[in-house]
Amino acid sequence: MGSEQGILPGCGSGVGSEAEGEAKLTSEASLGKPRYEVIDREQLCWRRVDVERLIGAGHAARAIWEFLGQLDLSGYQEEVRAVEGKAGRPGWEPRLLISLWVYAYSEGLGSARAIAEQCEWEPAYQWLTGARVVNAHTLSDFRVKHEGALHGLFVQVLGLLSADGLITLERVMQDGTKIRANAAPDSFRRKEKVEQALKQAREQVEAVEALSEEETSRCIAKARKRAAEERQQRLEQALKEFKELAEEGQEKEQRRVSTSDPEARVMKQADGGFAPSYNVQIDTDAQSGVVVAVGVVQAGNDFEQLEPGIERVEQNLGKTPQEVVTDGGYVSRDTIVAMKGRTIEYIAPCVDEAGKGKSSYEGRGVSPEYHSSRFVYDAASDSYRCPQGKILRYEGKEERHMQVSYRYRAQRSDCQGCPVKNQCCPSNRVTGRSVHRGEELAEVAEFRRKMATQQAREIYRQRAQVAETPNLWIKAKFGLRQFSVRGLRKVGMEAVWACLTYNIRVWIRLRWRPAPAVAMPA
Ligand code: SF4
Repeated sequence: MGSEQGILPGCGSGVGSEAEGEAKLTSEASLGKPRYEVIDREQLCWRRVDVERLIGAGHAARAIWEFLGQLDLSGYQEEVRAVEGKAGRPGWEPRLLISLWVYAYSEGLGSARAIAEQCEWEPAYQWLTGARVVNAHTLSDFRVKHEGALHGLFVQVLGLLSADGLITLERVMQDGTKIRANAAPDSFRRKEKVEQALKQAREQVEAVEALSEEETSRCIAKARKRAAEERQQRLEQALKEFKELAEEGQEKEQRRVSTSDPEARVMKQADGGFAPSYNVQIDTDAQSGVVVAVGVVQAGNDFEQLEPGIERVEQNLGKTPQEVVTDGGYVSRDTIVAMKGRTIEYIAPCVDEAGKGKSSYEGRGVSPEYHSSRFVYDAASDSYRCPQGKILRYEGKEERHMQVSYRYRAQRSDCQGCPVKNQCCPSNRVTGRSVHRGEELAEVAEFRRKMATQQAREIYRQRAQVAETPNLWIKAKFGLRQFSVRGLRKVGMEAVWACLTYNIRVWIRLRWRPAPAVAMPA
């Protein structure tokens, strides 16, 4: 017997007295060989599960369920086929499916298949479903099917948060973030290649349709047909996108479209690289950091995105923000004028254009005596007179970032024969010297003055923290660095899901108080 091994006379080191040896043997005999519980992973067992107690009273899943219980979800009921009094399996209630997606996003899960797996064993998902499993197809369809209802839900949530004092629209900050599309970088093709692939895809659809039911099972045939049709639709969309690129002014040689997500665009990333992406525009209320509007666009920059963002806020809340803050990527003459027209206080860094013009000679070896400021403007003849007394006549105008720039140029013959040419325009060999007269709109001048004040600069300093927090959460905490779905419409819906989740988490953090736990009977 194991417990008796080692107590045989003569065993041991042979060092020490007989009494010591006996004491040791007695001690070993009393301790014995340790015994442990046997882990049996082959067994099948039944156990009782108290679903209600799977998660604690303060668990986020309870908060999400409670929050959604306050909302009118009738917008989701239109397409429910299972109704009382009629045969058929009951459907899953929208409150449950929304709760599952919101909870999943907040935990960094964006895949329907992963949620279905979690429903099998993870306590929070089991609590939500009542220990049932919702299949991945149902979850996947639900996420992208009810666009109007999802938007209505987002607006309802804003209404609730607004009534709770979490939204004031006194100060809104807009920011854009690039999120990668579900498209491989090597899926971008020229138009000829897409046309070729579309021809093959159409033939493939015809071939699948021609297969008889005997040749393949009904289920497999349906799946093949769906896959072939989806590919054909994507390629047809890709051809349409070439027209869009042409309208956007892209050079014909440069035009390429992804065959996996035709609506994605190659955009510059924060790390300096390029990747197929969408530009997600988020407006955040500075009061509590609630996202008050979200939109997805194909533009690679934010230059023209402020007005559409403000319009989304107005549609969602029926009110115009009093003040809007952005980074310099949004600043332009048109944006400044548009914000003034909407009586919105606009705060953004003021890009000073002095010296940025292509024809500016300062810093190009031009002596200070021949800088533009030394040329005299005559409003009556709309011309300049140079330090040598030569006339520079009006040549044309350029619409610049913040101002309109009027260009004046001297005669080539005057400058080429001028004794001070090397100080005035040393690199000018073909044309005469030019100067620019910038004309700033009153709105731009006012904006410039405002942004020079300490107060405006203080407000701008708050921008990064407020505007970039939702972007960071959505990417880092919710894991949405790449969209799970394809196409502008579905991608837009996924962005709304992420912002909806973010807003509910804000409410949980600032307003939710868990109900006290109910004592269970002994
Ligand atoms: S180079 Fe031309 S513009 Fe300059 S001082 Fe001479 S004439 Fe005038």
